[in-house]
Amino acid sequence: MIRRSIFSFTDEQFRVQIGDFLDSEIAPCYESWMRAGCVPREAWIKAGQAGLLCRTAPRAYGGHSAPFLQSVVIAEELGKRRFSGLLTFLQSDIVAPYFLQLATEEQKLAYLPRLCSGERIGAIAMTEPQSGSEVAQMRTTISKVDGGFILNGHKTHISNGFTADAVIVAGRDCSAPGGDNTRLTLLIVDTDMQGIKRAPISKSGMQALDTCELIFENCKIPDGKLLGIEGKGLFYLFTFLGLERLMLSIYAQASAVTILQELIHFCQTRKTSTGTLLDYQTTYTKLADLYSECCVNQAFIDTCITEQMRGRHDPRSASIAKLRATEALRSIALLGVQLRGASGISGKSGERATQDLVESCVQSIWGGASEVLRDAVGKSLINCI
Ligand SMILES: Cc1cc2nc3c(=O)[nH]c(=O)nc-3n(C[C@H](O)[C@H](O)[C@H](O)COP(=O)(O)OP(=O)(O)OC[C@H]3O[C@@H](n4cnc5c(N)ncnc54)[C@H](O)[C@@H]3O)c2cc1C
Repeated sequence: MIRRSIFSFTDEQFRVQIGDFLDSEIAPCYESWMRAGCVPREAWIKAGQAGLLCRTAPRAYGGHSAPFLQSVVIAEELGKRRFSGLLTFLQSDIVAPYFLQLATEEQKLAYLPRLCSGERIGAIAMTEPQSGSEVAQMRTTISKVDGGFILNGHKTHISNGFTADAVIVAGRDCSAPGGDNTRLTLLIVDTDMQGIKRAPISKSGMQALDTCELIFENCKIPDGKLLGIEGKGLFYLFTFLGLERLMLSIYAQASAVTILQELIHFCQTRKTSTGTLLDYQTTYTKLADLYSECCVNQAFIDTCITEQMRGRHDPRSASIAKLRATEALRSIALLGVQLRGASGISGKSGERATQDLVESCVQSIWGGASEVLRDAVGKSLINCI
């Protein structure tokens, strides 16, 4: 793949350290976690001890005050191994930033140190059964009452939701002046509160990723759990979606490159009567297209990473990065099944290839489906030219 210039020697040393941890501590247990449908809490604590959580969070809150590139390294090492169950970047780079940027000092001190250590697991709940892509159409309600809020609603497909201790929940603000209920508010919901029901969702891919339904029935949330300013929830969600999409593109790209490398190796070793599978022009031209796509995507993602480090947040570029990386991943995973023939759907290699295919489909849905990203990029062009 292309030579990358964004990482220092220290970052590469860090990569080796993270890779060693994942291979020695996570890989041997991973299949049993797939059967269990979630990653146990001890693994999160081990991940925290090994420095996988909240790298960029300040030391004062339990983080490492590390550069963003170390978050990138972790997401890439997880992506290479397709450890979608232990999505540490969900905790570190998707949930924790809401606390770092919106929470009061008291809330930061109450939540961040234990999110950084892995003693607490965090999640974010936007999606509802009738509104996934259309975030603004959510029906969950948040009504102001004396001393706090009453939360009612149904969230679905929430990653880490079943094990989470704290969930950032978005809901419709029903107490806005003039009866305006189009505004959203964010609350920090401790999952030991009364009025919360949780149910795991079984899936045909990403089996080790805890994914669940969350139902809130007259759940009383104290005042101190408001996150940011009341009514600004939609603005916050769209702001933070940029970093979420960048992280998802980094993860998808690392998976895509690894699956492609494995596939090239397979084609090189699969004998035919005249040579190997890689000798067929129809094989190597397809691989050449996907290899080229991966190189270009990598260069684009690295530019987005560099911009992110400079504090230049660009949600549109993050949407493009996620769109391109996940679509390339899906094409590679599909070819991975096709070129393996029957062994692409049977035995150990078939299990891997079909899992890669299903997971690649998930990746082009979560965090904004490809069509939604195209729509957003397309609409932004009106003001761009
Ligand atoms: C494993 C997994 C983990 C997840 N984790 C979380 C989480 O932690 N928190 C959370 O809040 N959500 C989470 N989600 C939910 C995810 O973000 C939604 O599934 C996603 O936003 C799509 O919403 P939906 O499933 O309701 O599909 P829909 O919105 O019904 O869309 C279905 C399809 O319709 C098409 N479509 C939709 N809108 C448009 C459009 N504007 N133009 C053209 N076509 C369109 C697309 O093909 C899309 O894939 C997770 C989902 C999965 C599968």
